[in-house]
Amino acid sequence: MARPGEKFYLDTRGIKASGVVTENSFTVFKGSEVRPTIAKYLAKALVDLRHQHETDGTIVDWKLTRDLDFNSPSTAVTFLFGANASGPQTWKDENGMTMLEHDKLAAGVLKDPSDREYLGFLKTVEGNEGSKCHYPTRLDTYGCGCGHDCSYCYAKDMIINMTGPEGWDPSHPKIADLWRIENRIKRGELKKGDIVRLGGLTDCFQPIEKKYHTTLETIKILNKYRIGYLIVTKSHTVADEEYVAVMDPALAHIQLTTTTFDLALAAKYEKASPPNKRVAAIEKLQALGFDTFFRLSPYIDGWIDFDKLNRVECDKILIEFLRVNTTIARRFGVSLDDFPVRDAAYCHMSLEHKLEVLAKITGFKEVTVCDDCTEHYEYFRDHFNPDPKDCCNLRK
Ligand code: SF4
Repeated sequence: MARPGEKFYLDTRGIKASGVVTENSFTVFKGSEVRPTIAKYLAKALVDLRHQHETDGTIVDWKLTRDLDFNSPSTAVTFLFGANASGPQTWKDENGMTMLEHDKLAAGVLKDPSDREYLGFLKTVEGNEGSKCHYPTRLDTYGCGCGHDCSYCYAKDMIINMTGPEGWDPSHPKIADLWRIENRIKRGELKKGDIVRLGGLTDCFQPIEKKYHTTLETIKILNKYRIGYLIVTKSHTVADEEYVAVMDPALAHIQLTTTTFDLALAAKYEKASPPNKRVAAIEKLQALGFDTFFRLSPYIDGWIDFDKLNRVECDKILIEFLRVNTTIARRFGVSLDDFPVRDAAYCHMSLEHKLEVLAKITGFKEVTVCDDCTEHYEYFRDHFNPDPKDCCNLRK
């Protein structure tokens, strides 16, 4: 945290305000401006607090007439805006450095203030994956680390291969800058009607999201510009009320990824939500009318209980079969002999075996396969998937 006594400022969304970090809270100074509008979804406690201060003389002409204490910088800024906002990303010091960057400097994650920008947050993948995927544009609200810390993470392997071990830090991921996200949209890199995948390299609902709310705020920006979002996550928090209240069913497509229902097995390989919570989350989101998918990824022989799988109350399922190289095969304790098809850098299960697996999946209305082995990709596209143009099979 920023240290007590440090002063911060904001000049955005039409208001100016200032305040100071105190021992247990954040104090907004007298004279700070308050936006007159209140978002429909704002928590009732904050709506009531604003009304109370409008009548007791604390807010006059949309300015504070005295210093006001809040339990956090985020509550303070949300009160002032009348709409949800992240305090650490909004309050800036006199040099323009955000409170979040102060936190990261203090934690040793940010070595130098010039390292402030997380550059890779928006990109369009190319090559083998990009040519097959209908949604190659990815927006990572967090990067270079994921608190789910899956031992089989392809992103971790890729980044460590490119940068060395210091390039991946599960405890301190880089955090995308909301201003830059909106700026890239204004520059036309994403536009109305596009669909961007949230969580291309890392999980946009990894644990740090509960602190920084970068994904929540990004969803609000995407709503504003009517840009669709495909959320791929291993976290049940996507179904928490604060997200349900913000996600637009006309724009949101949500895939909850699970590899196994075995709690002990899941805990051995990843620190994401327990699989039963992920199932409950996707069932809740489907009941609410969102375009939802159970994403079985990766499928590994012996890891999934088909009886339980077929009882998941979700209309659509997407399957991605495990692909291996020698390192991945060793990691999962599988034999390379079971992956006889070689394509690009990976070995794949045979098509016959994949079809045997798919025949056991009977509890879903629509089954679709995402496959990066070219021969198999073409087979599923032409003979199996509900939408040959879109192996994700999103609602149109
Ligand atoms: S959730 Fe995804 S990005 Fe995060 S560690 Fe696991 S595989 Fe990697």
